[in-house]
Amino acid sequence: MIPSLTSILRASRILIASDFDGTLAPIVSRPSDAVADPHALAQWHRLAKIPKVTLAIVSGRSAVELETLCSEFPPCWKVADHGKTPRAPDGSTPASWPQARNPEHLGKVGMSADLLASQFPGATVESKSHGFAFHFRNVPAQARSALPPAVDAWIAESQRAGFEVLKGREVVEIQIPGETKYSALQRIATLVGPQSTIFAGDDTTDLEAVRELSISDKDFGVWVRSPERPLPDFTPDQMVEGPQGWALLLESIASFLEGKT
Ligand SMILES: [Mg+2]
Repeated sequence: MIPSLTSILRASRILIASDFDGTLAPIVSRPSDAVADPHALAQWHRLAKIPKVTLAIVSGRSAVELETLCSEFPPCWKVADHGKTPRAPDGSTPASWPQARNPEHLGKVGMSADLLASQFPGATVESKSHGFAFHFRNVPAQARSALPPAVDAWIAESQRAGFEVLKGREVVEIQIPGETKYSALQRIATLVGPQSTIFAGDDTTDLEAVRELSISDKDFGVWVRSPERPLPDFTPDQMVEGPQGWALLLESIASFLEGKT
């Protein structure tokens, strides 16, 4: 346990939050096959029993997917759509969360996404409540040379229509602007009142939260390293290796809070 984390864990109320894919669960080629790392899941159950801990999973998945993927998890905050769709541990939706605006051009951008996917074998389009995700993990290497210009053209069209663009691990998402994972953590903090927040993530849309929490002395940002992502351009409070590394850190945190270290 590193010293600054030890002092954070002495806070009287702590929010421990995590991204899901690549952080609590290994990345898989079919997103629907994702399963939480069993060790990480076990630590989540330990932490759920500690009264001063509030747990949150903050993901880019849809609310329905996140609920399914996390069915083995104890009740906790689940925030889907990169911060836009929250669900409290009791299943309720907090009234204070801003509703996303309904965009006029969502259908048009979605049709462009379908057209884009039709040009690349293995590519898929995921329709989400706030936009579309273009997945290209399964596009074979020999078909990839034409991918960057085609994706860039779709991104440019989406940006002209007022959407925001999130580039993830072998996925590009366009979505209506609004809440982010970091603003979602701040909203939960306002509702729950922790003195300190800990968050771990592995991808582009996690960077803001990991950076802001790393800058803050009372909070803790964890970067989950992977071969697909360059190191962040700031120094996170801690770097771990994949979901297994995050599970080990969660184990240390749980043991400390249970008074076993
Ligand atoms: Mg992730």
